[in-house]
Amino acid sequence: MEILFEKSKKGKRAFKFPSIPEFDIKKYIPDGYIRKNSPELPEVSETEIARHFNALAESNYHVDRGFYPLGSCTMKYNPKLNEELSRNAGFTNIHPLQPEQTVQGALRLMKELELLLSEIAGMDAVSLQPAAGANGELAGMLIVRKYHTEKGNPRKVVLVPDSAHGTNPASVTLAGYVAKTVKSNEKGLISVEDLKKNLNEEVAAFMVTNPNTLGLFESEICEITDLVHETGGLVYLDGANLNALLGIIKPGEMGFDIVHFNLHKTFSTPHGGGGPGSGPVGVKGELEKYLPVPRIVENNGEYRLSYDFPHSIGKMHTFYGNFLVMVKAYAYILVMGKDGLRKVAEDAILNANYLRKKIGDMFENPYKDNPCMHEFVVSGENLKRKYGVRTLDIAKRLLDYGFHAPTVYFPLIVPEALMIEPTETESKETLDAFVETLKKIVEEAEKNPDLLHNAPHNTPVRRLDETRANRTPVLRWKKNMTR
Ligand SMILES: *Cc1c(COP(=O)(O)O)cnc(C)c1O
Repeated sequence: MEILFEKSKKGKRAFKFPSIPEFDIKKYIPDGYIRKNSPELPEVSETEIARHFNALAESNYHVDRGFYPLGSCTMKYNPKLNEELSRNAGFTNIHPLQPEQTVQGALRLMKELELLLSEIAGMDAVSLQPAAGANGELAGMLIVRKYHTEKGNPRKVVLVPDSAHGTNPASVTLAGYVAKTVKSNEKGLISVEDLKKNLNEEVAAFMVTNPNTLGLFESEICEITDLVHETGGLVYLDGANLNALLGIIKPGEMGFDIVHFNLHKTFSTPHGGGGPGSGPVGVKGELEKYLPVPRIVENNGEYRLSYDFPHSIGKMHTFYGNFLVMVKAYAYILVMGKDGLRKVAEDAILNANYLRKKIGDMFENPYKDNPCMHEFVVSGENLKRKYGVRTLDIAKRLLDYGFHAPTVYFPLIVPEALMIEPTETESKETLDAFVETLKKIVEEAEKNPDLLHNAPHNTPVRRLDETRANRTPVLRWKKNMTR
């Protein structure tokens, strides 16, 4: 596809301004800021602009276009009602520095969202400030550090299972701790034995994802949290998979002390296009005093932002976090209600198990003896061995058939991993169509492996060198540039 600069023809215009009276720009703008030459902009008609950007939008893949089973990311459908409500001028036209008495509605919404999230997770208090899951993790780890420091020893180590999301050890390191790995057992669950070996007085916390990134429920979680508490450590829940637990069990009941939420995953607000996220962090009991400031406090129906929390870890984000994401999550929770949220989890689990069974023996499934939660992981080792076709080839071929690929090569403990999360918003028809397509691709792998090695064939761009695209991105257009 051509870029807009390549469509440019000298003298073409989209819109002509009426002539305005001469005025001396030097009177308004200091000399150093005035351009000497006109900028080199594309010259195109309005029709061309409209078509160009529409074509770009159509080249994009998104949840409103098709199935998006990207494991761990929870790419569920985002109800348009939430967008509509978040666009309310009363929310979009306010400024974070406005006097509190003029933004009572916004503060009330935030406070109520905090209370709803506390209730859902079985926590005592929540801060909405962190901007995403990873930012919530860091807030959590800083709370862990503050808690132990005030007890006299910050301790040194935070334990993380070998199936953990990469942000976990990263957050641990940023908070000044050493991340140490706890092994999974052959069932794909935390090895309690290995945990016991690693637990001692230097362990500040254990960071757990439940259901874990294999989509399996950590059935020994209560024993695990007890063990960590016995040595004075805290237990942190990476709550990215909370959509599997909603209304069924609360993290607080499993012994977790701190949890982060991904509003942009569990609570159905758009993400994946680099848009804003929101990763509130919830805590139990005595940890409340460490939450980021400002906190929203209510007194006789009046809401205030208070910095009067001397033990707080401080700020995690400018102002109060990504407010409009909070509005969408708040709307979603209220529309779903208690029963609706439980149904979300039940349907997410049902869809994942249906797909897991249907996919059956096409791939290797190291954990097939146990039912999964909202997602599952299979391995493409069999296809690699038999036909020399790798998981990456399968993922790329899926694009040709109009599906987004699942997450691949994660979690790291499964070779040639495909991590599939259908979410609760997909129909049986869609899941069946996905299974049929996978079958077709496995047949192709046998008959014509090169077709897969060179896939995708009919997407706007072919197979990209993803390493180079990340390490040396070319973001500036140059004349006669070759791409
Ligand atoms: C998405 C995810 C994260 C990170 O959350 P972000 O909002 O992307 O920062 C952490 N852990 C797990 C298991 C996740 O799926």
